[in-house]
Amino acid sequence: MCENCGCQTDFRTSYTCSRCGESFCIDCRLPEYHNCTESIPRKWSNYVQNVKKLSI
Ligand SMILES: [Zn+2]
Ligand SMILES: [Zn+2]
Repeated sequence: MCENCGCQTDFRTSYTCSRCGESFCIDCRLPEYHNCTESIPRKWSNYVQNVKKLSI
């Protein structure tokens, strides 16, 4: 489910933002489309980095 507009997304159409780590639909995936929070708490930035490592 998209964190921005709340629409239903499945695993094929959901995107994880590399900045905030939330899941979004194809329309909201870009940071400027979902008011991306650039000031990420340190523990969350570590989490996002782990996600990036796993997705490579
Ligand atoms: Zn959306
Ligand atoms: Zn974001």
